Amino acid sequence: DGLIWLDGEMRPWREAKIHVLTHTLHYGMGVFEGVRAYETAQGAAIFRLREHTDRLFNSAHILGMTIPYDRATLNQAQCDAVRENGLSSGYIRPMCFYGSEGMGLRADNLKVHVMVAAWSWGAYLGEDNMRRGIRVRVSSFTRHHVNVTMCRAKANGNYMNSMMALQEALRDGYDEALLLDTAGYVMEGSGENIFIVRDGVLYTPDLTSALDGITRRTVMTLAAEIGLPVIEKRITRDEVYIADEAFFTGTAAEVTPIREVDGRAIGCGTRGPITERLQSLYFDQVHGRRGE
Ligand code: PLP
Repeated sequence: DGLIWLDGEMRPWREAKIHVLTHTLHYGMGVFEGVRAYETAQGAAIFRLREHTDRLFNSAHILGMTIPYDRATLNQAQCDAVRENGLSSGYIRPMCFYGSEGMGLRADNLKVHVMVAAWSWGAYLGEDNMRRGIRVRVSSFTRHHVNVTMCRAKANGNYMNSMMALQEALRDGYDEALLLDTAGYVMEGSGENIFIVRDGVLYTPDLTSALDGITRRTVMTLAAEIGLPVIEKRITRDEVYIADEAFFTGTAAEVTPIREVDGRAIGCGTRGPITERLQSLYFDQVHGRRGE
């Protein structure tokens, strides 16, 4: 139960439905965001709302899709979705998708619909794993052409690779997948950016084919604030194996330590001290416990 914002109106959860001929359901062309609200001293606050909405509009622009609302309306819809569902914290999912006015690949004659749902959601990769760290498998799936050339868009159609990679990792008994690009360099998790720590320096892949993560940016800023050098560069698989620490970042995953990759322990095989420090700073930041 609850309410979902759909095309300008709050509707009961059960009534926020779409037709089976919804174009995006068939061809996967649509854009979305993953946003979180956190409990703060001032009540529920959406973390980096403006950045997420800007990325949603950029994603739509990349796909040639025109969102029929302005940014202020969608910001308000996200705030309303949190408030009207009585959430003190939770996950928010805005999505823009093509309607059911026609089939076939042309989309210029289709209506663009927008929905915003919000629900309560805890640690994406498991509460215990936030302390203990997760086990990761380097995926046999690599980033394909669309991912690499359109990686600035957070688009529905980009997630087939991610889902195949995660499915493979879970089937093999791991918690998450790590995808490489076609040249063999480390890119990102199925829905997270990756960082490694080596000799007191933080490294993360540059943005040639990874999503420009909002959590990634936040963590880079936090690292700079505590005097931790951050280097964006191409990272190889063996550099991850011999890292002192590694972690994933994402709105859903927040800061999740990685304790093992392909059966090799990372550092001491548990959450490392720099990861723990950044994780704690991240939670202080999202809960409004440090000045913005
Ligand atoms: N990489 C991919 C493929 C993602 O789907 C996400 C999730 O949004 C991220 C990285 C992390 O981005 P953000 O920190 O903005 O949530």
